[in-house]
Amino acid sequence: MLHVTKSFLPDLKEYVGYLERIWENNHLTNDGPLLKELENKLKEYLQVEHLVFVTNGTIALQLSLKALQIKGDVITTPFSYCATSNSILWEGSNPIFADINPRSLTVESSEIKSKITPDTKAILTTHVYGNAGDLEAQEALAAEHHIPLIYDGAHAFGVQYKGQSIFNYGTLSTCSFHATKIFHTVEGGAVITKDAQLAAKIIELRSFGHKNDDYFSAGINGKNSEFHAAMGLVNLSHFEEIKQYRKWACELYDSLLQVPGETIRFNDQIRRNYSYYPVLFPHESYLLNAVEKLQAVQINPRRYFYPSLNTLRFVGPQTCPVSEDIAKRVLCLPLSASIKEEEIRLIAELVNQSFK
Ligand SMILES: *Cc1c(COP(=O)(O)O)cnc(C)c1O
Repeated sequence: MLHVTKSFLPDLKEYVGYLERIWENNHLTNDGPLLKELENKLKEYLQVEHLVFVTNGTIALQLSLKALQIKGDVITTPFSYCATSNSILWEGSNPIFADINPRSLTVESSEIKSKITPDTKAILTTHVYGNAGDLEAQEALAAEHHIPLIYDGAHAFGVQYKGQSIFNYGTLSTCSFHATKIFHTVEGGAVITKDAQLAAKIIELRSFGHKNDDYFSAGINGKNSEFHAAMGLVNLSHFEEIKQYRKWACELYDSLLQVPGETIRFNDQIRRNYSYYPVLFPHESYLLNAVEKLQAVQINPRRYFYPSLNTLRFVGPQTCPVSEDIAKRVLCLPLSASIKEEEIRLIAELVNQSFK
């Protein structure tokens, strides 16, 4: 069985080396030395100012909304994983969906603009597949309306936009380090910001709202453990080779696939991370054909992201025609740091056959 993603696992010996340190320290969680080392190495690697390691990418979004005291309407993207809009709902706010651009699949800045009202408290959009929309226009909109701009960067680890980390854009960014993501700590995530005060607030909230023995706010448990930090430290040391391998795999797919019609376009100002290989089909029926052919030989692609989030029954009816159309036609093909050339060739051949 070949799935859409396969988690990277380093040589066990490398991980055991870190386990020995955990046994020596007898410090398992709560701001341990490996967590601090991971936070520092990630800040250095990504070239960002503040990075707070948390339990997962969803709590990273929730802590962000909580720290910014957002309550009300939040303009967001309908084309993302459900964690993006669920975190808004979970924090007692209302997701207001702004439609996406049909080529970049990121939210359209003019759509955000048209949805802003006096009740808008924040903008929260996704760098979907590690792609970037018009970040400057979005920053300008947020500044003009004095509202925070949050980026769900779950897919964007290591992506650069105009020569710097994409996480440096917006009021803050979040990332997911889940086992299926390009860089992982098994479970994990982070909040990244240039704002020292905001970072301090997130650190307080991730640990029940206390500093030492004093309680300052109604925090939550968003901490992560030394075991997770250890996996991150090992995987970070392999990240460049993982990215290079995935680049090779994506380029092989590019050279083999013959998909009619418009393709997804990556922003030419970014340095990509090759986190996903999405294919846009000219019609849903071809996509279903391809899924059937692939599943017949035990290959599992995923309909990331289907359905369009604005159509979920618990968010109430809102319309986003572009996202609804795209969500029906996009399929992510298997991509990992261990996918083999013959697997890619077989997948491409079956996808090409689905148009006949
Ligand atoms: C994976 C993902 C999340 C959630 O991250 P977890 O670490 O699994 O909680 C949030 N947003 C997007 C876009 C994702 O793909």
